[in-house]
Amino acid sequence: MRCVTCGQEYAVTELRYACDCGGLLEIVRDPRELARLKTSTFDARRTSGDPWDQSGVWRFREAVMDVGTAAIVTHPEGGTRLYHRDALDAYAGVAGVRFKHEGENPTGSFKDRGMTVATTQAKRVGATAVACASTGNTSSSLAAYAAQAKLRAIVFLPEGKVTIGKMAQTLAYGALCLQVRGDFDAAMRLVSEAADKLGIYLLNSKNPWRIEGQKTIVWEMLQDLGWDAPDWISVPAGNLGNTSAFGKALKEAHEAGWIKTVPRLLCVQASGANPFFKSFAEQWKTRHKVAAETVASAIRIGDPVSYDKARTAIEYTQGIVTEVTDVELMMAKRAIDGAGIGCEPASACSLAGVRQQVATGAIKPGARVVCVLTGNVLKDPDVIVKGIDGLPPLPAPVVIDPTIEAVRKAVGG
Ligand SMILES: *Cc1c(COP(=O)(O)O)cnc(C)c1O
Ligand SMILES: [Zn+2]
Repeated sequence: MRCVTCGQEYAVTELRYACDCGGLLEIVRDPRELARLKTSTFDARRTSGDPWDQSGVWRFREAVMDVGTAAIVTHPEGGTRLYHRDALDAYAGVAGVRFKHEGENPTGSFKDRGMTVATTQAKRVGATAVACASTGNTSSSLAAYAAQAKLRAIVFLPEGKVTIGKMAQTLAYGALCLQVRGDFDAAMRLVSEAADKLGIYLLNSKNPWRIEGQKTIVWEMLQDLGWDAPDWISVPAGNLGNTSAFGKALKEAHEAGWIKTVPRLLCVQASGANPFFKSFAEQWKTRHKVAAETVASAIRIGDPVSYDKARTAIEYTQGIVTEVTDVELMMAKRAIDGAGIGCEPASACSLAGVRQQVATGAIKPGARVVCVLTGNVLKDPDVIVKGIDGLPPLPAPVVIDPTIEAVRKAVGG
């Protein structure tokens, strides 16, 4: 593990989540070893019957974590689909826009890709209890993997800010839920302190093994495309773990010769939770913190932990960071839901961002674009039923008598 700030190195078996200088740690790989791995090996594993080959994470295991297959804690995860719908081309303003649906993971979000690796590491270092701060998806994923690995699960949630779907799921898998009086950023600070002082293993994306697992969103997407890289990858951004992972995945894939060109990242925040956008807009002059408020609860984060790594990812890919309003992201969600795909509000930022950047001319209409959908449509049922201000409501369910006349009336003849 190497510090991204000062370069200090630590053994991968050491139990720590940050450098002594406070910097983020990253797993470093020998580029020559990566270059020895061939995409044909990964492709052949797709038809294997073994769980670690079927896993869209462990299929790439030599570039994720060096561990014997017997030690792997896998559901399996990944293996998510890549969608195309004509109606969404029209919405985005580009032909052939694809959607990598990470909501199809076992617990309904991409967090499973990081969690399978970080849980495997937790077992490897002998942890007995694992913890995270979460807006609901990380906690659901942690709870499921901890249950499988027989580890105690303790999650720190901002009180009253977690959707009913995510809270129910986290409870169902048996985690102890601590509802912190404060926002996500307060819960994040508290769990970091708890990990240091109480010896609980931390599974937030500050843990570099989460990032190693999440790289495979990009690798599996490239594999879906026959290793022919797109021009743009659009991703919603909250705590910036994914943005960081995508940058690392693209750098490693390019250096290993798996792809010939490096796609540009479009990193999309909600305008009420936009600290990374603010920093980007002023050429990284200041690292901003905001009091976050947005309907997209998964990215309601004001002080993103992986800022430094994410900035490197944007610079490496010549990426763009932007913001979209709650109405814009909910309109994009309507389009995705209405195309029969479905996603949670935060996920739709990817499409809303592409539509905006096509309108400004930054993304050309002929560009090859992949949007990542981060979470499942059922993660936030309330927002679908209740809607938000400024968004036309969906038709309400109609109650009728059990007669054919009532049906005729309800369907308008
Ligand atoms: C966690 C999450 C995000 C944000 O990802 P980061 O890595 O924190 O930037 C976006 N959408 C959904 C559905 C999530 O669960
Ligand atoms: Zn350091």
